[in-house]
Amino acid sequence: SVTVSGSLMWFRKGLRIHDNPALEYASKGSTVVYPVFVIDPHYMEPDTTAFSPGSTLAGLNRIRFLLESLVDLDSSLKKLGSRLLILKGEPSEWDVKKLCFEYDTDPYYQTLDMKVKFVFDSIQQNYASSAGIEVFSPVSHTLFNPADIIQKNGGKPPLNYQSFLKLAGQPSWASSPLSVSLSLLPPVGDVGSCEILEVPTVKELGYGDDEQDELTPFRGGESEALKRLKVSISNKEWVANFEKPKGDPSAYVKPATTVLSPYLKFGCLSSRYFYQCLIDVYKDVKKHTTPPVSLVGQLLWRDFFYTAAFGTPNFDRMKGNRICKQIPWNNDDELLAAWREARTGFPWIDAIMVQVSSEACLEIYLMQLLPRSALPYLVRVFEVSGSALLQLRKWGWMHHLARHCVACFLTRGDLFIHWEKGRDVFERLLIDSDWAINNGNWLWLSCSSFFYQYNRIYSPLSFGKKYDPNGNYIRHFLPILKEMPKEYIYEPWTAPISIQKKAKCIIGRDYPKPVVSHDFASNECRRKLAEAYALNKKLSGQVSEDDLKTLR
Ligand code: FAD
Repeated sequence: SVTVSGSLMWFRKGLRIHDNPALEYASKGSTVVYPVFVIDPHYMEPDTTAFSPGSTLAGLNRIRFLLESLVDLDSSLKKLGSRLLILKGEPSEWDVKKLCFEYDTDPYYQTLDMKVKFVFDSIQQNYASSAGIEVFSPVSHTLFNPADIIQKNGGKPPLNYQSFLKLAGQPSWASSPLSVSLSLLPPVGDVGSCEILEVPTVKELGYGDDEQDELTPFRGGESEALKRLKVSISNKEWVANFEKPKGDPSAYVKPATTVLSPYLKFGCLSSRYFYQCLIDVYKDVKKHTTPPVSLVGQLLWRDFFYTAAFGTPNFDRMKGNRICKQIPWNNDDELLAAWREARTGFPWIDAIMVQVSSEACLEIYLMQLLPRSALPYLVRVFEVSGSALLQLRKWGWMHHLARHCVACFLTRGDLFIHWEKGRDVFERLLIDSDWAINNGNWLWLSCSSFFYQYNRIYSPLSFGKKYDPNGNYIRHFLPILKEMPKEYIYEPWTAPISIQKKAKCIIGRDYPKPVVSHDFASNECRRKLAEAYALNKKLSGQVSEDDLKTLR
């Protein structure tokens, strides 16, 4: 009989064929390969108690993006003579000699991998066979291996970008071409009695169809990622001149940046391949921008946060996090809900929050008198009438500076609410939600770590105006303010009542009054931060809960 030498390719992120060292290794010398994706119920099953549609861990937009990415992966695997095996159950009867998966620094996978290692160690012990199971787990999600950089820095992660760059240097793989295509894969082996499923649809997962028309315009999958990448890099001048943070956060018809973040998050696009394509463009142009502002610089920011996150215990919280300033944030659920549900009364802030999740807004403006269950009905009615409401889009994505504005507003700018609360909302709603990058940026924006100039606040009244004096972005995402004259669009509560009536939007009835007075609130925030910083300095960061109470 033929000796079967099987490999199990376990897809987690890295949902791609190009530059996928684990997949390549799995197929090398194997007669069969089992390409597996395991559905995690915490990630996929509807949570009806959550504040917006989705599971306990992810909003519906991201779940849909993931499913689309899996469908695309399955179709690419089929072209190579294989297929994706969606698993429910234990593949215990499979004869595999190699287990291959991409290494992942997220705590979720670190914990999981410890368990896998434990299971494998015990299998190896029990069956101490001559042919043990080989585990191959390469780093291919980031440009560098965070562990290498931390080691080079004496066991601690670098905490500023320039020292990160110095330690990182050139990536070792950059000089030779990456493997970007495969011509054939070994076939899938016998699956025994294991139940193999097709990639489920959102409906099959129990979400229903009601939200269909409001979903993100960004489709998941490697094919879409490579298309988007191609469009971005084909404009060489744009790549050469890319300079963040100069882009326009209010550009929504054609976003000012690549919108490749969700594809990088799920590994539909390899960051290493993206990097190499950018370097190729740089070779063809006379002059180009450089890190930190260039596009390559953005990818390095990604690696910077991955490294900081991997090397910092309790990176995702204030307590017990040695790089996080201890600040006596307020606990105010009502203000938090107003921010989350886009009803702070500051149109610039609310429009951004609608862009990330619009369903809350529909609820507020249309359904004050109706039960939530009427929402699908209303959406259908407005669809038929062709109302501007149809333009509401729940994108699950917004521009970097838009994220800056709403994160600053929630924390140190106006509401003085804990960055962990805002992080949680982003973690669930963003399609690019990424553990290291999201936490890192919330630490940054709240002036808890990395960045400490708390006097520099993004004004919810004037920041957006610089880019969009007419308020087109607000009119698009908050159609209730569509007819508000330009002079009042950023501060509609200052419009005389006659103007409000003419614009068919009475402030306090059709659109909320501001939840705080910006001047007063931002001064209070600055004062509290000054006090907290002084205390952190005095106690060298060893601030206790009791110490914080003295500042409340
Ligand atoms: P581009 O400007 O085209 O950049 C290309 C890639 O570089 C991005 O796709 C991303 O992978 C990386 N990148 C760009 N900016 C940053 C940055 N500041 N930090 C780290 N990597 C960066 N990004 C996420 O991918 N996931 C998140 O969960 C996330 N949460 C954020 C939370 C807050 C409060 C803030 C202020 C920013 C957050 N970002 C997050 C970073 C950044 O806003 C997005 O990566 C970027 O806007 C994505 O759009 P893009 O792909 O068009 O970026």
